[in-house]
Amino acid sequence: MNVSMVGSGYVGLTTGACFAELGHQVLCVDNDAEKVALLSRGEIPIYEPGLEELVRGNAAKGRLRFSTSVAEAVDHGLVIFLTVPTPPQPDGSVDLRYVEKVAREIARHLRDYRVIVDKSTVPVRTGEKVAQTIARYNTQGVDFDVVSNPEFLREGCAVHDLLHPDRIVIGVQRPRAAEIMKELYRPIAAPVVVTDLNSAELIKHASNSFLALKISYINALSQICERAGADVDLVAEGMGLDQRIGKAFLKAGIGYGGSCFPKDLAAFIRISEELGYDFRLLKEVAAINEEQKERFFKKIRRALWVLEEKTIGLLGLAFKANTDDVRNSVALELASRFLREGARVRAYDPVAGRKAQRVLRELEICEVGEEVARGADCVVIATEWDEFRRLDWARMRKWMISPLLFDGRNLLDPAHMVALGFQYEGVGRGLRIG
Ligand code: NAD
Repeated sequence: MNVSMVGSGYVGLTTGACFAELGHQVLCVDNDAEKVALLSRGEIPIYEPGLEELVRGNAAKGRLRFSTSVAEAVDHGLVIFLTVPTPPQPDGSVDLRYVEKVAREIARHLRDYRVIVDKSTVPVRTGEKVAQTIARYNTQGVDFDVVSNPEFLREGCAVHDLLHPDRIVIGVQRPRAAEIMKELYRPIAAPVVVTDLNSAELIKHASNSFLALKISYINALSQICERAGADVDLVAEGMGLDQRIGKAFLKAGIGYGGSCFPKDLAAFIRISEELGYDFRLLKEVAAINEEQKERFFKKIRRALWVLEEKTIGLLGLAFKANTDDVRNSVALELASRFLREGARVRAYDPVAGRKAQRVLRELEICEVGEEVARGADCVVIATEWDEFRRLDWARMRKWMISPLLFDGRNLLDPAHMVALGFQYEGVGRGLRIG
């Protein structure tokens, strides 16, 4: 099938590459000419495991092309995906100007029947507005369908998630569009949930808000564990084995960040408000998340007393492991607070170092993990990269001025770290001095 992606960022590029891998003819469009030039040369602007091979392989086979032209996207794709940003506005509502602009552009170039699919995360009823917009600007009255097909991929394992999703959600206004979408996804073995437009849009916000809720639940529990002398990881293990609860997203830490959860939760609270419902439960989820970040920062400040003139070794800058995405990263937020209070920050991240430094110029980026410990008053783990477990911690301990270790992701074994001479503090597992 001929498929176009309008917006070739994390979602558009990865989805486009996966559709090409499934045998479709894909055109990825972006209005960032530099990005398109880079992609056309086989260079990938983001780090996502497995993506580079997929893009290069499919481009070489002629199944994946790049362009800056929406007109070309409309000409090429029977199915045209909108994968543009939907950033938050200061009041939490979603900025839909990119979606609206692309809808208008598509309408102007419509010559034959097309399925226009919204994959960006949007408030319920956006699809209806997209359909109205296309109808208004499509002056030749060409037939079209608007579909909502929300995306659930996780950055860091996006290729896997796209090829092996838990489910595919397709929200339609007419059966014809559902048939075309099912045909597009036919090579993927996953349950397909066909709904109306509004329900599909709600499924996305409801799912992300529920996942954020699970994280805030376990983070709130981590506070109880610290006070009660229990270990939150053991509590989570014991809870997660219950199939009604499940293990996923029961990992206590420094709060969720990233480009999706904070934005989608704020949007869903706002959407609910506009529909006349005060979603107090979700407001509390957001409040617990802020509190969790604050408490972790305060733990560090309490230990160091004054941050000015201190050196903090920071492990991790990406908002989570296996990605170079630093948008709304709690690690970066911490770094920024340390710097604001006058500390030096020596940081290491396996892939996000340069991107982070573009946002926070004062960061000192180390080339290897152990280096963050040189002359450090404390070391902080802020992203759950697996390789941090394998650092030469004994050597790092020797390089540090004082042995304070704050494990914001409960990545290390407290007893082992104490045996190495650290004063270890994780989340929800109490202070270990030895
Ligand atoms: P992104 O910023 O990485 O990519 C968006 C791309 O769209 C950019 O390359 C930008 O240059 C391009 N763009 C903007 N305006 C354009 C226009 N008028 N014409 C053509 N291209 C245009 O964003 P993303 O992370 O891919 O997110 C896209 C959408 O998918 C958002 O709604 C997001 O909430 C949703 N989503 C993201 C994830 C994720 O993990 N990143 C997961 C599920 C859903």
